[in-house]
Amino acid sequence: MSLIVQKFGGSSVADAERVMNVARIVTDTFKQGNDVVVVVSAQGDTTDDLIAKAEEINPNASKREKDMLLAAGEQISISLLAMAIEKLGYHATSLLGWQAGFQTSSAHTSARIKRVDPSRIRAAIDRNNIVVVAGFQGLSRFGDVTTLGRGGSDTSAVAIAAAMHADLCQIYTDVEGVYTADPRKVPEAKKLKEISYDEMLELATLGAQVLNNRSVEMAKKYNIELEVLSSLTKAPGTIVKEKPKMEKMLISGVAKDTDVTRISVMGVPNVPGLAFKMFSKLSAKGINVDIILQSIGHDGLKDISFTVAKSRGQEAVDCLQDYMENLGAKEVLYDDKVAKISIVGAGMESHAGVAAKMFEALYDAQINIQMISTSEIKVSVLIDEKDADKAVKAIHDKFFD
Ligand code: ADP
Ligand code: ASP
Ligand code: MG
Repeated sequence: MSLIVQKFGGSSVADAERVMNVARIVTDTFKQGNDVVVVVSAQGDTTDDLIAKAEEINPNASKREKDMLLAAGEQISISLLAMAIEKLGYHATSLLGWQAGFQTSSAHTSARIKRVDPSRIRAAIDRNNIVVVAGFQGLSRFGDVTTLGRGGSDTSAVAIAAAMHADLCQIYTDVEGVYTADPRKVPEAKKLKEISYDEMLELATLGAQVLNNRSVEMAKKYNIELEVLSSLTKAPGTIVKEKPKMEKMLISGVAKDTDVTRISVMGVPNVPGLAFKMFSKLSAKGINVDIILQSIGHDGLKDISFTVAKSRGQEAVDCLQDYMENLGAKEVLYDDKVAKISIVGAGMESHAGVAAKMFEALYDAQINIQMISTSEIKVSVLIDEKDADKAVKAIHDKFFD
């Protein structure tokens, strides 16, 4: 007998018909003699709607109260799914995050899972139940409900699979697997049979929301093989594992991230220690900096540009503006109409000219590059947000046509 963890995202449980569809997938797996733990997200756009409700009442609400509200979304879907499973003639138990043993840090709205104590899940399985767990949530050491950050249910599923030594962790979603680009934006995108943890981690971090990046990090750490597949078709999905059997592809995908702001600090003195001063100020505020570009400088002055997440953009500008005199800077500029487009591929390590090919695609499409950053298995460029979809398509065509 195997233990299988199955996770269903918001669109897979969006309405009564979809919930019944999920109940059928789950009970089919159970009927085949497996123990099943199901992790579900909130229905459809519930989480967005709850965030909007909070904004309406108090845009500055405390994160603790936001978590209390957001966790309600998943409570609805677990109970509905358990009812659907009962309707099909099987025993089901729904459990909230804390009941399922999720202990997290106390960083409300972006808590990290510290430990999962699956004893209550195990006890329900032993009573021949299908267990339905609320994704995206847990309990802090202060006894407060926490959430894991957007897309966090994927991580909940992997955490259970790791804690219970599951034989398989399936992530059911609204597309048939991981593609070479977002299949909703690039219809020619190809489904990948397999992808390595490292490549998937880069893709997820660089904007491919099909898997949450923390879930991939955790799957790699505990060596949990993931299968990403559709809850609506029976097509085989994509396997995420350490070493795919297939030959390394030059590029495994193109990703887009519009959650980016570019900040430029203009006309700082060209002397040692400036970057240190600037970035320590930001790091003291917990602001994560991504791509950094520094000009060579002329007339004793230089410019330093970098990117941060949109949600931290204004804070970063305010922080540097307050500090401008100390830095000796002339001006702090800000642009949030930018997008980061990236290519990811393990094959890059051993092939020259991959970045050049990406730049050629952008040149052919007459798209200007503002910043570039590279690592062994990725190349990212920052461009104008209005060109983002065109850029993804042009780059995808260049590598996959
Ligand atoms: P769920 O609600 O099931 O968690 P998400 O909306 O979080 O689903 O993720 C699935 C979506 O990810 C797809 O609908 C697709 O538009 C998007 N996506 C972005 N990049 C990719 C990619 N490379 N492969 C597959 N899907 C992608
Ligand atoms: N419901 C949460 C969200 O929308 C968690 C998830 O879907 O994974 O972000
Ligand atoms: Mg998701």
